Amino acid sequence: MSKIIGIDLGTTNSCVSVMEGNNVVVIANREGSRTTPSIVAFSNTGDTLVGQMAKRQAAKNPKNTVFAVKRLIGRTIDDPEVVRLKSLVPFDIVPMGSGERKTPGVKIGDKEYSPQEISALILSQMRDIAEDYVGEKIEQAVITVPANFNDAQRQATRDAGRIAGLDVLRVINEPTAASLGYGFGEDRHETIVVYDLGGGTFDISILRLGDGMYEVLSTVGDPFLGGEDFDNRIVETLLSEFQDENGIDLHSDMSAMYRIKEAAECAKQELSVARETEINLPFLTIKDGAPLHMSRTITRTELEDLTRDIVEKTIPICQQALDDAQLTAKDITQVVLVGGMTRMPLVRERVQQYFNIPINTDVNPDEIVSIGASVQAGVLNGDVQEVALMDVTPLSLGIETMGGVFMPLIPRNTPIPCEASEIFSTTVDYQEMVNVHVLQGERELASENYSLARFELWGIPPLLRGMPQIEVSFKIDASGIVSVSALEKTTGREANVKIEASGGLSESEIDTMIAEAEAKRNSDAELHERIDKINEAKGLVYMAERSLKQMGSYLPEDTVAQFQNAIAQHMDYLNNNPNDMLTEDVKSTIRELEKLAQTIAETAFNAMSN
Ligand code: AMP
Repeated sequence: MSKIIGIDLGTTNSCVSVMEGNNVVVIANREGSRTTPSIVAFSNTGDTLVGQMAKRQAAKNPKNTVFAVKRLIGRTIDDPEVVRLKSLVPFDIVPMGSGERKTPGVKIGDKEYSPQEISALILSQMRDIAEDYVGEKIEQAVITVPANFNDAQRQATRDAGRIAGLDVLRVINEPTAASLGYGFGEDRHETIVVYDLGGGTFDISILRLGDGMYEVLSTVGDPFLGGEDFDNRIVETLLSEFQDENGIDLHSDMSAMYRIKEAAECAKQELSVARETEINLPFLTIKDGAPLHMSRTITRTELEDLTRDIVEKTIPICQQALDDAQLTAKDITQVVLVGGMTRMPLVRERVQQYFNIPINTDVNPDEIVSIGASVQAGVLNGDVQEVALMDVTPLSLGIETMGGVFMPLIPRNTPIPCEASEIFSTTVDYQEMVNVHVLQGERELASENYSLARFELWGIPPLLRGMPQIEVSFKIDASGIVSVSALEKTTGREANVKIEASGGLSESEIDTMIAEAEAKRNSDAELHERIDKINEAKGLVYMAERSLKQMGSYLPEDTVAQFQNAIAQHMDYLNNNPNDMLTEDVKSTIRELEKLAQTIAETAFNAMSN
């Protein structure tokens, strides 16, 4: 049976793992890092870069470097989060889609990419990392999502997997995955809190663990709370100080903004271990022909003062999770921290103080979610037998009724999979069609909840009003994904449900994207090969340089000059043609360089022997 990988598709970083025997192995990428930046960049030569390579070139190419796409996936263009993100990122976010429901897309040159396509590129990269490691083709995955993702976001994530050529066997909640990763292989009987503060979202889940059973008691979250809020506080402080000192507002200078944001995040991370750190950004901009720099020391205390209220926002959410589970902080026996932000000492202190127990430090907050996804993969393919997972739906599912009121049919925190049904009828004689509006959320008014779909029920027999009895069943599967079916009870016929794709992409759009992604995969493989070859060639240039340095003193000056010239020419060629160079050209450069290094050695050897 082929392997199933576990992917934590993060806002900032992603992580892939796989089960081997009874263990889960977190797989390092080509750069040797166990997490990969969730960043995709499009170079002006048409290449697509993903991960570390995309991150490295971001400051130079901010408009074509896409990050935080998880904040867009499955949302509509007028969603407050999309509107907010639009003002924060240097790339263009534009409305996409042909129907009424406009979704956000990313515009790169003339082409628009859906968040699913961008996510698919990241997922492909994670799959490639795993394939390199296991040495076989991988076609199946378990992918994690924030617990508070609604149906549209889950479907869109699953569609991203499909575009990447992956059969997504299950979408599981990040905190639930973390608990699986935490409890796997141990006989734990505990009531745990998983406190997950990542780059973009905050989730908290309370679970009861015992005899291999993982029962989610409650799950709550805030999709607008995460590491970026911390970074933005530092960024805004730096920007306002810079404006006060120099009279320049850098908000619209994309390249400067990117550098400041990066430096702010870096400082934030360093302050998790150091008490103070430096922010140094030389040549940030130019004023009256003279360069301006940014240089400043920032202390941990200052960062804590700037961001204490953000940490504090997580506390009522913890309380709500306890209330929903009908527990108090005293009932909690373990706190598992997940997400990079939980490395911040202030976060740790506050969480520890609130639950009043030592927090677990054995778990790697960057990897535990992916590990849990692989455990779930093991459960699905039968490798892991002693684990049973009982998750819940994080949001109430319901319909709009008269007067725009929201009527929940499946309340929040109901164990999944689950099902509920409702009888609908007609309001006019001989009515042939009924409209149903399905929503998710906790607000009283339908308009304040997330609209999943408006669908039409057709095939209703021509009867007087109120006579037809249409039973509509709403199902939430184990991935938290909603499906709807309808039965006309007087005739026993299935009613036809016409539903707009909740994730935002139609089946035919997905099929086209799958085909494009497959074609791209081949060209990406070629790009990687080219980059490897260029690196190999540069390595040979350095080797030739070193040989010349070591043995040059045994050679006549004009021979040294000739070799230096040849080396400089090769280096020049490699530096100036990084993208459009054909593999064959690099191969011949490599052969020439190998010959050059050998000639240097032989010439020096002959010179020494004479
Ligand atoms: P995640 O979504 O779990 O990958 O979390 C990413 C977030 O964690 C980003 O905002 C990072 O800046 C932040 N982060 C990562 N490492 C640290 C650290 N050592 N201290 C503080 N924040 C961190």
